[in-house]
Amino acid sequence: MQVWKFGGTSVGKPERMHSIRTLITADSGRKIVVLSALSGTTNALISMGESAKANNDAEVQEKIDALKAHYDAFIKELYSTEESLKKGQTIVDNEFNFIRSVLKSRPFTLKQDKELVAQGEIMSTQLFQGYLEEQSESSVLLPALDFMRIDTDGEPELETIEALLGDMLDHQTDKQLIITQGFICRNPRGEVDNLKRGGSDYTASLIGGAIRAEEIQIWTDIDGMHNNDPRIVKRTFPIRELTFEEAAELAYFGAKILHPSTITPAKMRGVPVRLKNTMEPQAFGTLIATTTTDREIKAIAAKDGLTAIYIHSTRMLNAYGFLRRVFEIFEKYKTPVDMITTSEVSVSVTIDNDTNLAEITAELSEIADLEEHDRDLSIICIVGDFKADKEGIALKVFEAMKHIPIRMISYGASEHNLSILVWSKDKAEALNVLNERLFYYEDAMKNIFTAQ
Ligand code: ADP
Ligand code: ASP
Ligand code: MG
Repeated sequence: MQVWKFGGTSVGKPERMHSIRTLITADSGRKIVVLSALSGTTNALISMGESAKANNDAEVQEKIDALKAHYDAFIKELYSTEESLKKGQTIVDNEFNFIRSVLKSRPFTLKQDKELVAQGEIMSTQLFQGYLEEQSESSVLLPALDFMRIDTDGEPELETIEALLGDMLDHQTDKQLIITQGFICRNPRGEVDNLKRGGSDYTASLIGGAIRAEEIQIWTDIDGMHNNDPRIVKRTFPIRELTFEEAAELAYFGAKILHPSTITPAKMRGVPVRLKNTMEPQAFGTLIATTTTDREIKAIAAKDGLTAIYIHSTRMLNAYGFLRRVFEIFEKYKTPVDMITTSEVSVSVTIDNDTNLAEITAELSEIADLEEHDRDLSIICIVGDFKADKEGIALKVFEAMKHIPIRMISYGASEHNLSILVWSKDKAEALNVLNERLFYYEDAMKNIFTAQ
């Protein structure tokens, strides 16, 4: 069995939903199909929640009306029979009644907010299932809220998911297509929760891992993982093959095409992940698996919104146990550290979640001297196959970046990653110069010499 996930743009128009049906029924393989909300819906729901929190009822009303009008028009083009249109209208009307009632709750808490944003995926899957029924396909909608579980830290519980989903699938052996929602789940209190923005990718890989799928396919609006961020860099190209480790580094360090945690369950259970373009299904895309044969430097990604903390301690000189005390403080505040550099008496780290920055720096000050921290930093992450005996990679990278101020460098932690911390204002320039130097320079040189 395979798991296929379609993102927001892939389900965002009625004709796209029609093409998805063609794609998922083109072969006879049984599939679990994970859908995101229609593009723009999650943002619209979040924005309604903000207006409700601000007690701005007029604004809430306006936003509900605009989104409902969008869905009313959407179903008219999605369905072709009167009967299914009627059913579709009932789905939309019921859903918007529910959305209205949630938005009326006062106080409007995080719990309500999470119920509200879940409605995007709940609507897209119901509407799509209605369309498959209209077309007499053999399909069933399994609610993700019945099997997708997270623990108190917001981490998915793979074993529980495996048991619950396995049981549900045992009762659906006659159905060819199993439709479910991405992104949404339940927490240990039984409340509706989610896997954070972009979380539908993670749903797909959790399901793929749980059922030990043959393959997980992530269908989106681009022909695979590109060698650099196509929103910022002009000349980019799709990478045919990546290892799990390389893809995980790219996703973690900002390649938006994948939710940062997507690779973990797939890698754990050895399920290959294929990235495909809904708009161009014949394109190869990217295959993420255990081994690859591709080029040495694979891709570059960037992660924004980082804060650097600079910690000095003369006690660190020849001391042991100092780093443990430093990291215990980050652990206490559940704050992951992205990058670390050390010198004789100093250690610098970056974090992206600065919710507890004041508490962390206060506790660090008890054991060390802190320099003023810096905000608005970005990590540029260069990913590839950097075996210890490879020469010249760092030279190419720093030659390209010679005019860009660098705050920190990390190399050697894994064989796949060279990370450089820069000011966010310099990120676009860094991505572009690295792109030219690492992916086009050698070819350009070859062309010059063959022309001579
Ligand atoms: P979906 O809605 O299908 O989940 P996303 O918008 O989350 O799609 O992810 C796809 C987008 O990721 C692309 O349109 C592209 O702009 C962006 N992106 C950022 N970095 C990369 C990269 N390295 N390769 C491909 N796409 C990338
Ligand atoms: N709809 C959710 C979001 O916009 C999840 C997803 O699309 O992956 O973040
Ligand atoms: Mg996404």
